[in-house]
Amino acid sequence: MPHFDLFFKTEDLRRRLEPHLDLIPPYFRFTVRTGTPEVRFFDQKDPMWKGFPFPIPEGTIYVFDDEIPARALGGGMQNRASVRVTRADTDDEALVLRIWHEVLHAIGQPADDMAKRAGEWQSVSERLMWAAWQSLSRSLDVPFWHRKFYAWLTERAESGVGGR
Ligand SMILES: [Zn+2]
Repeated sequence: MPHFDLFFKTEDLRRRLEPHLDLIPPYFRFTVRTGTPEVRFFDQKDPMWKGFPFPIPEGTIYVFDDEIPARALGGGMQNRASVRVTRADTDDEALVLRIWHEVLHAIGQPADDMAKRAGEWQSVSERLMWAAWQSLSRSLDVPFWHRKFYAWLTERAESGVGGR
C-alpha cells in the first residue's frame, strides 16, 4: 500500500484541499504536512519545467502555489510527485484529482492514457455516454471522466498490474 508524505506549502492550501483528500481511495495513504520538502529543479532551459520544484525524498508529494514560468501543472515519477495550484484553479476537488493523477504517475500507472485505454476501463453504458460527449464535441478532459479512469487505475495498481 503506497504511503506518501503529502506537503502543502501553505496552511491556506492545506485548509482548501485536505478536506477533499477522501476523493482518493484509501489504497493511497497520506501523512499530511505543511511546508516544503527538500526539492530539486529539472532542466531550467525547458519551458515546460522551468522553475518547477520536485521532491527529492522518496515517498513525497509537494503541493505548491508559486508563480513560476513552467507550463507544467504537475509531475510524478519514482514515488514522488509535485502539483501546482495556479490563480486560475478555483475548483478544489479538481485540484485533488490533479494530486491523484500525479500520484498514479508516481507509482508508474499510465495516468495520461484515459482516451487511449477507454476500451479497457469503460462499461458499456460509459462507452455510449463517452461517444455521445464526443459527438457533442464536449471536452472529455473533465473531473467526471477523470474520477472513473483514476479509480480504475487505482484498482489496477491494487491488483498488482502495471507500475512498480
Ligand atoms: Zn499526466
